Amino acid sequence: MKLVFASNNKNKIQEIQALIPNSIQILSLEDIGCTEDIPETATTIEGNAILKANYVKEKFGLNCFADDTGLEVEALHGAPGVYSARYAGEQKDANDNMDKLLVELKGKSNRKANFKTVIALNLENKQELFTGIVNGTIITEKIGTNGFGYDPIFVAENYKKTFAELSMQEKATISHRGIAVQKLIEFLNKI
Ligand code: IMP
Repeated sequence: MKLVFASNNKNKIQEIQALIPNSIQILSLEDIGCTEDIPETATTIEGNAILKANYVKEKFGLNCFADDTGLEVEALHGAPGVYSARYAGEQKDANDNMDKLLVELKGKSNRKANFKTVIALNLENKQELFTGIVNGTIITEKIGTNGFGYDPIFVAENYKKTFAELSMQEKATISHRGIAVQKLIEFLNKI
């Protein structure tokens, strides 16, 4: 069976293909000739994952899944959330985003946050959602050089190192995305 992953991120695609059964072939947006930018205009993380998965289903008639992720900070009522990529502006710069978040949290004692990934799967005529959440805290400075996005300022619960100090494998076993992908794979393994 062929299954489209509504993404052109080669790392994510390879990572998932390596984990799912060989009977399922993952295709990227490029593989199906989808060159347009899929609108991400929903106001929730779930909504954006569903928008992307439905876009491929409706335009191409193919089974597919899409993911969306955000960082939700308790003291900021869930911000930056669905706007995590462009928190500090349309340039989508990770350093700018972290700087803005550190300023917003300056002097605040509640630094609880969580990363949340939602995967929306459109298979035949059914839709399934898989959610992965990792709780943690936002520290006061950037530490570590691995990973991307907000990794240098996020420390997961029961850990001492930031996500940017963990290896890719260590991060994948506890991360929001790792948990959501694992749930997707368990589901696909059963069909
Ligand atoms: P996306 O939905 O995977 O493109 O993620 C949206 C935004 O959330 C990214 O641009 C990052 O700012 C942030 N983000 C997503 N996943 C991670 C992660 O694993 N670590 C740090 N930041 C992340």
